[in-house]
This record gives sequence, structure tokens and C-alpha cells, in this order.
Amino acid sequence: MTLFPEMFRGPFDCSIVGRARDSGLIKLNVHNIRDFALDKHRVTDDVPYGGGPGMVMKVEPIMGALRSLPDGGLRILMCPQGEVFSQEIAVYLSGLPHLVLICGHYEGVDERVRSAVDREISIGDYVLTGGEIPAMVVVDAVVRLIPGVLGKERSSLQDSFADGLLEGPQYTRPREFEGMAVPEVLLSGHHEMIRKWRRKQALKRTVMQRPDLLKKARLTPEDQGLLQEILKEGGWDSGPSEIS
Ligand code: SAM
Repeated sequence: MTLFPEMFRGPFDCSIVGRARDSGLIKLNVHNIRDFALDKHRVTDDVPYGGGPGMVMKVEPIMGALRSLPDGGLRILMCPQGEVFSQEIAVYLSGLPHLVLICGHYEGVDERVRSAVDREISIGDYVLTGGEIPAMVVVDAVVRLIPGVLGKERSSLQDSFADGLLEGPQYTRPREFEGMAVPEVLLSGHHEMIRKWRRKQALKRTVMQRPDLLKKARLTPEDQGLLQEILKEGGWDSGPSEIS
């Protein structure tokens, strides 16, 4: 639900999200909150009670828009004050049949809108002009987790965060570019060696870039062994001090 439906045209119409819509795997409807304004000038915002800068989105058009929908969808207010969006939340949302995302704008929405929402989601600790881009972020992250959307050959299970780790390095042709060669193991055809190398690289990248993630990651005994090897090998400037 938005005051700016035209903002969604590109992101929802092309690439993977567009194809998922075309193939009927998902349905995305963009509702214009202005259609639910009560007065003839279709006003959707007003000055804040008590004074102050900017405009606040009125409660009646948003409530009207929500009431026009069938019951049962999880109602999410895009809001910088909400819980910070993560892959874990995306996985949870991808299992629900129907989501309603409400995009605020200007100074935000009238506080009474909160009485009608189930969850508030922020995409990070910064403030954007509106909830449209955050809603696109949530839709994109959720849609690619829906079975069939990425196609049979591509699984989101290998992506960064799927099992709590970052994904390791990836290469495609050519074998060598400006003196930088693809690691031999990837050319070996030896599936078990490749699997183990990839796992070690994922662990190494996580150690180097986001050591905080390791505390929550589900590590197997093999992972623990690889981690010990990585720590012994060293070769980074910062990061691993946080792991023990
Ligand atoms: N005055 C509000 C505050 O200080 O919390 C900020 C309002 S912001 C300018 C306008 C709208 O953009 C919000 O109602 C929300 O829908 C959206 N928005 C801005 N930043 C966001 C973020 N980090 N995550 C999710 N939504 C955001």
C-alpha cells in the first residue's frame, strides 16, 4: 500500500520477480492509498498535531485501504523504528500465504495506524523518504525464497546467511584473467574436494568479513576442524580476534 504506485513498476515487472509474477508463482498487487481518501481533493496527509515540521499520513485512507483487503494477511508497516530485516525474517515471511506491506511517506504515518498492524520492519538504521524502497527490498528477499522462483537448478540454500555463513568466492570463465587464475580445485571435477573447499572458503570469508555471524552459525564437527585450519593459516588484518 503506497501513495506512489508508479515507483514499483520497474522492480516488480522485470527479472526474477517479474518472471515469478508472469508464471503465477506469486501475485503482487500495488494499492494506491489515495484511492481511499475521504474528501473530494483526495487528501492523504496533514500537519502534525502539536506543531512541528512536515506532514503526517492520515489514518483514515490507510485504514480504508486495509479494510478493502480480504482478512488473513500479515500486515507489516515499513518503519525505521521496526525490527531490522534479516534473512531469518525473510524465510519466515516466505512461508506465509499473504503479506500486506504498508509504505509510509513524509514524516510517517499517524500513530493510530499501528493499532492495525501485526509487525513493523526496518531495512536498517537509516531513514529513507518513504517505505516504497524498503517494501521492494522485503518483497525481493521473500520472493526468491519461494519454491520454484529461482528455478530447479538454483537454490537459495547456498546463499550468504542461509546457514548463518557468508557464501565463498565464485568464478566463471575465463580460467585466467590478467594473471588471476581460477583455483585448481574447482577445475578438478572432484565433487567432494570441491564441496570441502567451498565450505572452508565460506567459513574463511565469514571469519574475515563478519566474524559476528559465527556465534550464531550452525557449525558441524567438520566446520570446527576447518575453522581451526583457517585460524592456524591466518593471513588477515582484522576480524578473527572476535572468535574463540
Ligand atoms: N519520522 C519518522 C521517524 O523518525 O521514525 C521517519 C519517517 S520516514 C521519513 C517516512 C517513511 O519512510 C516511514 O513511515 C517508513 O514507511 C519509511 N522508512 C524510512 N526509513 C525506513 C527504514 N529504514 N526501514 C523501513 N521503512 C523506512
